Amino acid sequence: MSDKYALIGNPVAHSFSPLIHAEFARQTGHDIDYVRLLAPLDGFAAAVAQFRAQGGKGLNVTLPFKLEAYRLATRRSERAEQAQAVNTLKFVDDAVFGDNTDGAGLVRDIEVNLEFPIVAMRILLMGAGGAARGALPALLEKKPVTVVIANRTVAKGHELAQRFSHLGCSACGYDGLVNRQFDLVVNATSASIAGALPPLPPDLFAPRSLAYDMMYGREPTPFLEFARTQGARGADGSGMLVEQAAESFLVWRGVRPETAPVIARLRAGEFL
Ligand code: NDP
Repeated sequence: MSDKYALIGNPVAHSFSPLIHAEFARQTGHDIDYVRLLAPLDGFAAAVAQFRAQGGKGLNVTLPFKLEAYRLATRRSERAEQAQAVNTLKFVDDAVFGDNTDGAGLVRDIEVNLEFPIVAMRILLMGAGGAARGALPALLEKKPVTVVIANRTVAKGHELAQRFSHLGCSACGYDGLVNRQFDLVVNATSASIAGALPPLPPDLFAPRSLAYDMMYGREPTPFLEFARTQGARGADGSGMLVEQAAESFLVWRGVRPETAPVIARLRAGEFL
């Protein structure tokens, strides 16, 4: 029988994760069955328990359950502790191991795939939700000169930045970005899903800067359109999606699949 894995969230219907993991399984010769698991908003723990009872080996966790998954884990990786959010669960006997692969996926896409070194860069991280929490420690580990968090709800940004202030992290509202310039701007808000653009001032992008939107899709997001008009290079989150999935596959199966061919297929629209 195949080993059972799933993506748990609400909603999950839009996700490419089953297709990506099917590719990884084919490539590595592992026999896994990876499905989408829609959990009721008030029924995350019960859905996880049921999946385990049916022999499930591990889960990817998406919106809005990453914080609940963090609390549910009985053992956590250091990066999950830093993010205080979990996107990967692995069941080993009675233990539930929680990890966070979002940050590693983002950084690998930026540094390896896009060949953009983060060291000494000035970074603007937009958003302070689950994705930003995962991204922040991984970005800081690469020794940028500064990371500024801009969030609509300013207090949430400050709360997140405060935990990392000793590493050069600070926070502000979007109005605090006027007359500031950044080398890397990461959109970790969900604004793009609604076709919206946070209120960014002009002249935000330094020369040769990279604009990275965690959202992915057929059309450029409003953020990437804005970045283009400002002369910045742009990238969407399809590379991050595949890289964080590969990192989860490594946690579960002990082998890291090749990501480049899967990213190429995703970008070519084969999964859309
Ligand atoms: P959350 O709901 O946890 O956080 C959403 C964030 O977006 C909050 O900071 C919120 O601000 C902000 N926001 C929402 N709407 C707007 C708006 N109109 N203007 C400004 N800010 C806004 O979501 P996640 O952090 O989990 O996900 C964020 C994005 O990242 C999603 O698009 C998701 O698909 C993507 N993602 C991509 C991944 C990938 O592998 N490519 C992996 C993980 C996430 P406030 O606090 O004020 O509400």
